[in-house]
Amino acid sequence: MKALIDRLKCTVCGVCEGVCPVSAISVSETSAEVSDDCTLCGMCVDTCEFGAISLPEVGTGPAADLASYSGVWVYAEWRDGTVHKVSHELLSAGRKLADKRGVGLAAVLLGSRLTEELSSELMAYGADEVYVVDRPELARFSDEAYANSLVRLVREKKPEILLAGATSMGRSFIPRVAAMLETGLTADCTELDISDEGLLLQTRPAFGGNVMATIICPNKRPQMATVRPKVMKPERRDGHKGRIIAPVLPDECFQSRIEVLEVIPEKDQTAKLTEADVIVTGGRGIRKPENFSLIEDVAQLFGGAVGASRGAVEEGWIAPSHQVGQTGRTVAPTLYMAVGVAGAIQHVVGMQGSQVIVAVNKDPNAPIFDVATYGVVADLFEFIPAFSRKIRAERGEV
Ligand SMILES: Cc1cc2nc3c(=O)[nH]c(=O)nc-3n(C[C@H](O)[C@H](O)[C@H](O)COP(=O)(O)OP(=O)(O)OC[C@H]3O[C@@H](n4cnc5c(N)ncnc54)[C@H](O)[C@@H]3O)c2cc1C
Repeated sequence: MKALIDRLKCTVCGVCEGVCPVSAISVSETSAEVSDDCTLCGMCVDTCEFGAISLPEVGTGPAADLASYSGVWVYAEWRDGTVHKVSHELLSAGRKLADKRGVGLAAVLLGSRLTEELSSELMAYGADEVYVVDRPELARFSDEAYANSLVRLVREKKPEILLAGATSMGRSFIPRVAAMLETGLTADCTELDISDEGLLLQTRPAFGGNVMATIICPNKRPQMATVRPKVMKPERRDGHKGRIIAPVLPDECFQSRIEVLEVIPEKDQTAKLTEADVIVTGGRGIRKPENFSLIEDVAQLFGGAVGASRGAVEEGWIAPSHQVGQTGRTVAPTLYMAVGVAGAIQHVVGMQGSQVIVAVNKDPNAPIFDVATYGVVADLFEFIPAFSRKIRAERGEV
């Protein structure tokens, strides 16, 4: 779908071409055309003084039974017998939404040989109910079986909100769930809230991170959103009680056309970036790949991980799996050191949740200093070796 141009009203003045943020409008001497790049943002509609542009009707109007949906659900991800931290974070966020709305909070566990401890842990993070679907066919993750099971449960129980982690698993099957339920999904939200009318306010960066957009889903249910790990804060509620529900789903839910032959654990330790307590990140200021050894050295001193800006990744100095930011990983370590990183908004959205941010940059006006807890205006090639020496000396290692 794209913006519609009424040719009878259009004067080919060209104003809309200038305001379109995604360059989807081209105006010639005789006509204005809208390309498939149109995002239906509506800026052209507001700008056209001749009323020649309109947006197509989105959807078919409110679903008749919106009021029959109630409750907040979190898809509870787990691996190797442990609840994924993102599930703690989402339950904590979901609890606040549910309390504001005056409804219950439920978690959904799909898998095989699911222990009671898993459910208890979900309750300790605020779940009033845990739906447990325990089937051998769910032992390994499968897009089809997981999506079918979750969709079946949603259709039966009708939650008004469904949240999931923007992990590789969530990214893989949650869009399928949204498509099967014919509802909207906002990926990678950085903030969630709820309006008085019960609309989920789903905030996420848009237009390359230059604006924060708050997206709503007024006409369909459930309202679905994914959130990256470490974006929300986990809050344990020891003593919170809940109950386990074990729904029986029909066999066809567990069928899949994909057979998983083997699961090979990721060898690349940089995948641990999101788990690290200390991250030392190098940017384009590092100048060449060999200089990443300076960053590695400091990271090692703190038992931390090495991060990188997209600038450094684009130069080919380090693998993309190290990238922090909007198109990389979102991290929130206790200590984040940004060395030779300018602090572009796309980088900052991926690390601003860190507890302490130390920035080292020779430019005192670098934007990274706006988010830094401690700023060091210095040449990194002088500062970093001296800093490492000082730490080693304090520890009596030299
Ligand atoms: C859609 C989109 C998504 C993006 N996603 C990401 C993302 O996920 N992550 C990300 O990082 N970027 C992302 N970017 C790119 C981002 O806009 C910046 O271009 C990038 O972060 C710049 O990397 P940098 O800070 O390392 O490089 P630069 O902007 O080149 O900055 C280098 C910094 O190093 C400093 N410096 C240079 N020499 C020294 C020295 N000797 N000592 C101390 N300081 C020194 C300079 O003063 C400068 O501030 C994205 C961009 C777009 C459009």
